[in-house]
Amino acid sequence: MLQNPKRSHDDKRTEDTGAPADLEFERAVSLSSRALRYAETYKTPPTPKNFDVWYAFASGRPEALCREISEIIEKDGSIDSYELSQLHSEYLATGETERRQQEMLGYHLDREMDKAMQRVHSHLATNEHYSGSLKRGANELSAAATPAQVRKTVEVLMMENARMRAESVKLNRDLEQTRVQVRKLRTSLEKSRENEFRDPLTNVSNRRYFERALTRLVTETRSTGNPLCLVMADIDHFKRINDTFGHQVGDDVLKYFAALLMKNVKGQDLVARYGGEEFCIILPSTTIGNAQRLITHIMAQLDSANLVMSRGKDPIGKVTSSFGIAHLQPGETGDQLVQRADARLYQAKHAGRNRVICDPST
Ligand code: GH3
Ligand code: MG
Ligand code: MG
Repeated sequence: MLQNPKRSHDDKRTEDTGAPADLEFERAVSLSSRALRYAETYKTPPTPKNFDVWYAFASGRPEALCREISEIIEKDGSIDSYELSQLHSEYLATGETERRQQEMLGYHLDREMDKAMQRVHSHLATNEHYSGSLKRGANELSAAATPAQVRKTVEVLMMENARMRAESVKLNRDLEQTRVQVRKLRTSLEKSRENEFRDPLTNVSNRRYFERALTRLVTETRSTGNPLCLVMADIDHFKRINDTFGHQVGDDVLKYFAALLMKNVKGQDLVARYGGEEFCIILPSTTIGNAQRLITHIMAQLDSANLVMSRGKDPIGKVTSSFGIAHLQPGETGDQLVQRADARLYQAKHAGRNRVICDPST
């Protein structure tokens, strides 16, 4: 076997940690088997996503992810695949797939544009050649002494002209192909950019988008002095819906709830899925009184909805949600605003659910 004489076996180090490769290997094996044990203990099948989360938990990083897992287990005594997948998109999926896809699409777009430029350049060169032929032809014609010389020059000119026309037709066809290709690539690029910020189940914005939008809107609000409210919503006893009717129905309820929120907002308002069965709404230019009225209206619609299962038409029963609203205070950050809205939501849960609590109270 060939070996690099300058690098002994013991000397091998992994590129990212600088730790000896053997140690890294052993550590990875030990973390993997711990991750598998967690998957078994909590009866969450070790699919790539679940495994990823358990592996991160076993390694203790990121800390916030591990803290959340411990909290869920402490509170419920269990954790399921849905919660793991939420944690995965929150902490581990960094939009890498979309970013890689965008890079690839960008590369193809560049190539298409390069090809189009080359075609145009080559056409311009042919054009120049054609102008030269025309000039030469004109000179030859004025100097022509016999009808045979005139005919010959005209024949050459007609040939050049036919060649030029064929070139133009070809260029048009090529450019049309490029246009179609570029349009396809651009649509894929736009879709991929959208997916990076969209929750695939409910089709509302995801948490990544929410966090960016909140930072932007808080900054804007600071300069305009307009009011801004943040609503945090959490469906009540959602676990029961899943346990009673199955996850598919649970998913349908999430879709319904997201659509209900969307139906009730307008303009710059932003609805996002914060995680699991938690949603948030940013309401720019809205006073706390108006935000509360909007939520009361949504609660009334939820109350009068008779949700039935799509198959079999069995009634699902009343679905309710608790809400916390906070009004942005001067100098406050987006994170602080989220914390206050969340604290009110927590209060609403403890006060018996199916209610809205505001900060400051109205
Ligand atoms: P509370 O009234 O206190 O909010 O109780 P809850 O049961 O709604 O809250 P809990 O946090 O105990 O349970 C939320 C459940 O939501 C746990 C998880 O399985 C489920 N869940 C999270 N994401 C999804 C999802 O995408 N689809 C489905 N069907 N369930 C999900
Ligand atoms: Mg919840
Ligand atoms: Mg809930």
